[in-house]
Amino acid sequence: MLESLTEKLGNALRSIRGDGKLTEENMEDALKEVRKALLSADVHFKVAREFVERIKSECLGQEVTRSVTPGQQVVKIINDELAQLLGEGENDLEDKKPLRIMMVGLHGSGKTTSSGKLARYLAKKRGYRPALIACDVYRPAAIDQLEMLAKNEGCFFYGDRNEKDVSKIARRGLDAAKAADANLIIFDTAGRLQIDEGLIEEIKVLKKSVQPDEVLLVADSALGQEAVNVARHFHEAVQCTGIILTKLDGDARGGAALSMKSMTQVPIKFMGTGEKPDEFDVFHADRMASRILGMGDVVSLVERAQETIDEKEAERMADKMRRADFNLEDFLSQMQQVKKLGSMGSIMGMLPGMSGVKIGDDEEKKMARTEAIIQAMTVKERQRPNLLSSSRRMRVANGSGVEVKDVNQLLKQFTQMRKMMKKMKGGKGRKMMKAMEAKMGKGGGMPGLPGM
Ligand code: GDP
Repeated sequence: MLESLTEKLGNALRSIRGDGKLTEENMEDALKEVRKALLSADVHFKVAREFVERIKSECLGQEVTRSVTPGQQVVKIINDELAQLLGEGENDLEDKKPLRIMMVGLHGSGKTTSSGKLARYLAKKRGYRPALIACDVYRPAAIDQLEMLAKNEGCFFYGDRNEKDVSKIARRGLDAAKAADANLIIFDTAGRLQIDEGLIEEIKVLKKSVQPDEVLLVADSALGQEAVNVARHFHEAVQCTGIILTKLDGDARGGAALSMKSMTQVPIKFMGTGEKPDEFDVFHADRMASRILGMGDVVSLVERAQETIDEKEAERMADKMRRADFNLEDFLSQMQQVKKLGSMGSIMGMLPGMSGVKIGDDEEKKMARTEAIIQAMTVKERQRPNLLSSSRRMRVANGSGVEVKDVNQLLKQFTQMRKMMKKMKGGKGRKMMKAMEAKMGKGGGMPGLPGM
C-alpha cells in the first residue's frame, strides 16, 4: 500500500543536504517533490498545498541535530504533520452501553463486511453484546450476508425480507435486540452505486427513527478523490461521526485517507485491511503517517546510532578518508561499527524510502564474507594490501573459506574506492566530502560499501 508515495518522498528527501540548518534553498526541491507526490497519491490539491506550506514553516531555520541528517529531520516533521492531518487520537467511539451505530456508505464499499467486523471487534475488545440489524430493503442478498456474519460471530440478528419500510424494520429490530439483551446495535443500511436523492432521503429518515450515537461512513480507499466527495455528501446529509476506511490492503494510492479527514473534519476511526473478519483495526494516525512515509522508525534508528557509533572514531575515519590512507583494517572496523547497529535488514527497514528495498540475507551474507576475508589477512596485509601476492591471496581464500576470485574482487573494489578518495582530495573533493557527510553523517556512507 502507498508504495509510490513512499518512494517519491524518499527520493525527494534524499536530495536534501545542508550545513546544519534547513533553509528555503535546500528544502525547495524536496518540498516540490513532496507536493507532487501528494498530488499523484490523489490528495486534493488544496490539502497538498496547505500541507506543504505548513511543513515549510515548520522546517525553516530548524537546526539539524548533529547525528541526524536533514533528510531524516524533515521526515520526522512531515511525519508529525501527517499524523495531525490524519487526525491523531480522534478515533474513539462514544463510550456508552447500550451503543447504537448506523452504518452508511456506497454499495460495495464494504459496509456489510465492516458491520460484522465492528461487531466482532467491539465484542472482543470492549465486551459488548452486539446485534446486527439489516436495514437494506432492496437486496435480499445483503440481508443473507449480514445474517451469515451474525451467525459466524455468534451475535443477535434481525431482518425482515417482506417489510419495505426501513423505519419499521429499524424500530422492530431495536426492540428485538433490547429484548435479546444486546447492548451494541449496529444498523446496516442500503447502499447505492452513486449518491442520489432517494438514498439520502432514506438514510435521513432512518437516522431519525434509529437515533444513533454514531453514524459511521464506510468508504472504499481505492476510490481515491471520489471517496472524498462521497464522504462530503454523506456528511452533509447525516452528520457522520466517523469514517471506516476499507480495503487499505489493496493498492490504493493513499490520497483518500489523507484528504478525507481534512476535507470533512470527520475522523477516520477504523480501517479494514482485508476480507477476513479480523482484518480490521482502530485507525492509528501516527502509524499510518509512518507507513505513508515509509520512514519506519527514523527516530529510534537515530537514537541507536548515537549510542553505538563512537563519534571520535567516526571523525578519525572521515579524516583518513579525506587523506586517502584508508586501509582494509579501517574498513573492517567501520564494518564492525555498522554491525553493532543491528542486522542490515532491520536497519534498512528503518530508513526512509528504504521500506520497499529488500535487503535480505544476501546482503548480510556478502558483508559477513567480506569481513571473513579481511580477517584472514595479517594486520600488515590489511594496512598494505599491495603485499597480497597471489600465494598470499590463496592463503587468505583458504583461511576464509572463499575462492581466490572473491578475494580478488574485494581487493579490486577496494582499490577503486581508494582511487575515488584520492580524486576527492583537494577543493572539489572537500565539497563532495561535505555533501556526503551531510547526507550520511560523519564518516560518510561507509555502511553502503559492503554492497560490493
Ligand atoms: P457493501 O455493499 O458496502 O455492504 O459491501 P460488502 O461488505 O458486501 O463488501 C464488498 C466487497 O469488498 C466484498 O467482497 C468484501 O469482501 C470486500 N471487502 C470489504 N472490506 C474489505 C477490506 O478491508 N479489504 C478487502 N480486500 N476487501 C474488503
